[in-house]
Amino acid sequence: MRITSDARPHGDRRPLRACARGRSYRQRVYHPDRLLHPLVRTGERGSGQFRQASWDEALEIVARGISNVRDRHGPQSLYIASGAGNMGLLRGDALARRLLALTGGYVGRHAGYSVACTTLASQATLGTTETGHSYDDWANARLIILWSSSLTDTFTGTGMPYYLARAKQAGARVISIDPQYTDTCAFADEWIPIRPGTDNALMDAIAFELIANNLHDQAFLDRCCVGFDEAHLPAGAPPGSSYRSHVLGLGDGQPKTPEWAAAITGIEPDRIRRLAREYGATKPAALIQGWGAQRATNGEQYVRGGIVLQAMTGNIGVSGGSAAGLGGPARQVRLAQIPDPMPAKASIPVYLWTDAVTRRAEMTPEADGILGVQRLEAPIRLIVNWGGNSLVNQHADINRTIRVLRDQSLVEFIFAVDQFMTPSTRYADVVLPAATWFERDDVMSGSFAGDYALFLNKAIEPLGEAWSDYRIARALAGKMGIEPEFSLGRDDLGWLRALCEESGIPDFDAFRAAGIYERSHSEPYVAFADFREDPEAHPLKTPSGKVEIYSTIAAKQDDPERVPTVPKHVSVPEGADDPLRERFPLQLLTPHPKHRTHSIYGNVPWVRAISREGLTISRQDAEARGIADGDSVRVWNDRGAVVVRAHVTERIMPGVVAIPQGVWYRPDADGVDRGGCANTLTSPRASAWAKGSTSHTGLVEVEREVSLTPASPPISRAVGDGTEERDHSVLPPLSQSGRGGERTEKCTFQLGFGYDQRFCTACRACQVACQDLHDLPA
Ligand code: SF4
Repeated sequence: MRITSDARPHGDRRPLRACARGRSYRQRVYHPDRLLHPLVRTGERGSGQFRQASWDEALEIVARGISNVRDRHGPQSLYIASGAGNMGLLRGDALARRLLALTGGYVGRHAGYSVACTTLASQATLGTTETGHSYDDWANARLIILWSSSLTDTFTGTGMPYYLARAKQAGARVISIDPQYTDTCAFADEWIPIRPGTDNALMDAIAFELIANNLHDQAFLDRCCVGFDEAHLPAGAPPGSSYRSHVLGLGDGQPKTPEWAAAITGIEPDRIRRLAREYGATKPAALIQGWGAQRATNGEQYVRGGIVLQAMTGNIGVSGGSAAGLGGPARQVRLAQIPDPMPAKASIPVYLWTDAVTRRAEMTPEADGILGVQRLEAPIRLIVNWGGNSLVNQHADINRTIRVLRDQSLVEFIFAVDQFMTPSTRYADVVLPAATWFERDDVMSGSFAGDYALFLNKAIEPLGEAWSDYRIARALAGKMGIEPEFSLGRDDLGWLRALCEESGIPDFDAFRAAGIYERSHSEPYVAFADFREDPEAHPLKTPSGKVEIYSTIAAKQDDPERVPTVPKHVSVPEGADDPLRERFPLQLLTPHPKHRTHSIYGNVPWVRAISREGLTISRQDAEARGIADGDSVRVWNDRGAVVVRAHVTERIMPGVVAIPQGVWYRPDADGVDRGGCANTLTSPRASAWAKGSTSHTGLVEVEREVSLTPASPPISRAVGDGTEERDHSVLPPLSQSGRGGERTEKCTFQLGFGYDQRFCTACRACQVACQDLHDLPA
């Protein structure tokens, strides 16, 4: 098997090129730790002790386990954990939903880990999550403000950084507001570091300066928004509750001046003034809100505040502007999904799934965000973990999660479908081995990045006894006596053909042969252009039909301190001003890494070699603790401790440290995580309104580690007794029979390669491609 890139010229359109992860996939497929046989647990749950089983036996145990729990506790005791291991049409969670729905039901989940706050806030303010322009419109902006947005690290589609580079070439000035100097700052003219969780204080001060200098677009605010000033409050809003009154301090006596904001954000007042005046005077300006700052206890306010600034500056609905908010998808080939014949009646926020195990009787819609019912009928007693690592690794406060999972009187049965023995799969009772994308057929949408779909053609037969996700689900349906209703007589390709036809893809066979189906457009897409043109004829799907600066939906929460009716800075536990900073003085960020998709690829040597794991810490904070670059350090709080390498740098502001999320949890005998998994430290406290992830709101302390144990030992083999370790950094050569297949292409001698430095994002896909071509170890 060989992986090559699509080298067709792309002209002015976005390039579709493999990233470093995609280029490394051969090493993932042939990884020596691939799960190739069904496994049944033999030791304590979580011990990693399993025996090999036949497919028939393993499926029988799973089918019995589902019936047993459902019959005794009811359908709301069955939970399908969140997982992004397979995002195609035949993905595991869609198959599991259909399977459980056909046998009586399950408890649903909402407010996903990624975008809970921005989903809710975008809908409450703009009536939709589809707030983004097409990326080619960025070239029409004169100013781009990347707020908590590192497009070279967390892109949705490989073309995103390309469009940023195009905008730079077209003359846009770029400002990055972020606690870290990310790789994206290479495209920026200015970096403004800000304390995590204080974004709304800066937003309020910018708003103050816009008003003070008459730089706000009063005509747009009057015509298209409610709640900016007292004259445009929605019906029922009390006097003095407008955003303008809040910013000018008419109610609390505190004008939100740059001096006021400086004490909260750590940004100099004059710098705030300069930013506000440049922003107000430069048109059009695009404020691009990343999703990092909304994964915070006050994350909803950050999203609302960004939208309000774009409304105040009149940049909503114009080419080169933006509406901020979630950001997409502007245009998309919308793919039909595997149908769920009986969607869940009750649903829980993902971030509170452990609560639904331990205290479901206390949970209410008001306090905990459960939907569909006033009370859950049963606690979670069975978990389907299909292509996901959020059961342990990707969920907050790992030590707490593990205590829940180890208690078999709580969760009685767990089955996993996966390609590796991840820290989550390890807690399953039965593990079923799944094929990779290269070993089965599937179809994938173009995410937010474009109006296209990809056909993931099967390249090789599944290794060992691995099966495609659909084959697993269909066989399980057979064991449960519902195969005809489940499959409708279709195999993998039969479902893909039916779903593509339903999606309006005109020629399935041509799509399959080409590998891509795309729609072309002659002009960039500008979100809310019709609304701006005529807000009465094209109202938003908000209660007022306008941009809700004063949110009537927020008002219904009746929680003005944590969910204010206009966006504002809200102090939160473990925030920048929490007195707990006396014990834990450093704010912890857990950013998405460039070279992993969450925890996926965390065990691929080529990817590990180009990743920067460990703790990023400022020179000032490191020197205060006697820490040098490369030292082993212990990072801890009341929830746990990790030992990692320190990267001492000027690229993060003092008072803030960062550990990339997704590293595999690897506790030692004392429970100290020596893998460096950030969720050993993150808080399970959900955000105030959306009940979303708060992985960027947390406090820690750091000290130099004196133990001789290395911070990043070799990856655990993780199969067998779970204790064996080995370094498997060498990929079996392409020519090795049975693993890599035969090389079909002659490798010619190459002296170098050319690249356009203006577009280089330091992704290092070229390095992995070279290693792949020449069979080089990491
Ligand atoms: S040249 Fe730059 S952008 Fe291109 S693959 Fe290499 S690191 Fe990535």
